[in-house]
Amino acid sequence: MKESVSIVIPVFNESGNIKELINRVITSCRNQSWPFELILVDDGSSDDSAEIIRSAVDESPGEVIGVFLNRNYGQHSAIMAGFSHVRGTIVVTLDADLQNPPEEIPKLVDKIINGFDVVGGVRKMRQDTRFRKLFSWLVNRMTAKITGVNMRDYGCMLRAYRMRIVKAMIQCNERSTFIPVLANTFARHTMEMEVEHAARTKGDSKYNLWKLINLQFDLLTSMTTLPLRMLSLLGTIISIFGLSLGIFLVVMRLIRGSEWAAQGVFTLFAILFIFIGAQFIGMGLLGEYVGRIYRDVRARPRYLIHETKGESSLK
Ligand code: UDP
Ligand code: MG
Repeated sequence: MKESVSIVIPVFNESGNIKELINRVITSCRNQSWPFELILVDDGSSDDSAEIIRSAVDESPGEVIGVFLNRNYGQHSAIMAGFSHVRGTIVVTLDADLQNPPEEIPKLVDKIINGFDVVGGVRKMRQDTRFRKLFSWLVNRMTAKITGVNMRDYGCMLRAYRMRIVKAMIQCNERSTFIPVLANTFARHTMEMEVEHAARTKGDSKYNLWKLINLQFDLLTSMTTLPLRMLSLLGTIISIFGLSLGIFLVVMRLIRGSEWAAQGVFTLFAILFIFIGAQFIGMGLLGEYVGRIYRDVRARPRYLIHETKGESSLK
């Protein structure tokens, strides 16, 4: 089979980076045995990223394609929008901020040609803040436990996929997806390889704490309903505990008289607050699922492509 490679890159306010990005992708892919196309998805940028993408399409016709969304939908939705345009037999994703060096692309492609369905990059010497690293460490451990697929770095978007995996992902209707995890559920042979990682030199990270929390819930609810089950389990344990405590208090009051019970009032309050807190956590978690169900039931399109520019020369 003649291989060809589609490179999908989501772009959100990266005007300082994309010129260099496009040049480096093109130079590292031009002299390979496979033809390629570079799909840049503009995720509703408000700087001049879209203009830069447009001129890149004009400069390299047949190689660069621009997909422009009408507003900001988030990194994973933008990648999905890019997936809907891929024509190659192998698909590679990476970030636009040059933290993932484009020079690594051919190495990942080689692994796919050698028979792997998914190749995930692992960032060696990751150049991010300590907080981000800690957060990722937690997420990776949890994800590995829940999915049973042991990958060390789910946060690294420098990844390569066989086309059939991408096709399966496009067919998924849910809106809260976390692409690396979704891909693994369809893959048979997966592998990880170490890739370089650079610090972000231009622009800021697009993820603040709030967006990270949101992404984390996407990840969790898209993978499993286990937390819901844990919730009922926790509820049961707490109510058994509460019941025994109640019995204990009554008995103690009978033995020691009312004085003892009055002095225990604050203990009781403390315990009550624990239960109330647990209830709120439970309700919030339930709400996360219900909210996502609501979004999926409405079945709005996950993104709207406002315009595409450029025609791929693949096939
Ligand atoms: N991104 C996007 N839409 C968003 C947020 C981010 O398309 O709403 C893109 C961004 O342009 C970059 C990639 O996703 O190409 C990763 O973003 P960032 O570098 O800010 O994330 P971090 O490296 O901090 O995880
Ligand atoms: Mg980054």
